[in-house]
Amino acid sequence: MTEEWRNHPKLKRRFHAEFPGDVQVIIHDGGPRSTDRSPEVVWVTVTGVDENDIFTGRVLNQPQQLTSVVQGAEIKFIVPSGEHLLMVTEKYLQERPDWIVRPCNQCGFDELFDVPSELIHVIFPDIYENENRSMVMFTSFCGVCGGVQVVQHKDARLESQHNDKQEEKKKWWRFWK
Ligand SMILES: [Zn+2]
Repeated sequence: MTEEWRNHPKLKRRFHAEFPGDVQVIIHDGGPRSTDRSPEVVWVTVTGVDENDIFTGRVLNQPQQLTSVVQGAEIKFIVPSGEHLLMVTEKYLQERPDWIVRPCNQCGFDELFDVPSELIHVIFPDIYENENRSMVMFTSFCGVCGGVQVVQHKDARLESQHNDKQEEKKKWWRFWK
């Protein structure tokens, strides 16, 4: 069994001093717009990494108040910009390539705690229903510090560059929340 993650550059200096297979990861039930439950930082024993730098690991601590993660569960996590490793879901990993998340204006964190489509459903229920997701650009609260992140669909940028005449269609961008 290979344990290439032990020397993975993204995990450098993140391992526990006495338990060199363990790292600290933020686990969560979602971001501030979808849950009242606060994220928690737990120790996770790394069990693997794939070719896209998606790590897997086993949760060592019992979460205090989260419902989506239990002690002993295997989770996936990634290494965003900034200080913290972040638990991610399969759905998040599926949708994430379609989105640009600008770094948080306070801490530089450039991932979301929520699956983008679910976040849009909360913020823009009408747009979600209209299947207009590719036009979407919005601001969200950073899951780590509560700062502001701008989130943009990859195609939204193209629309704004190529459809200058369609100003009307973009009006709702002013409804940033
Ligand atoms: Zn932040």
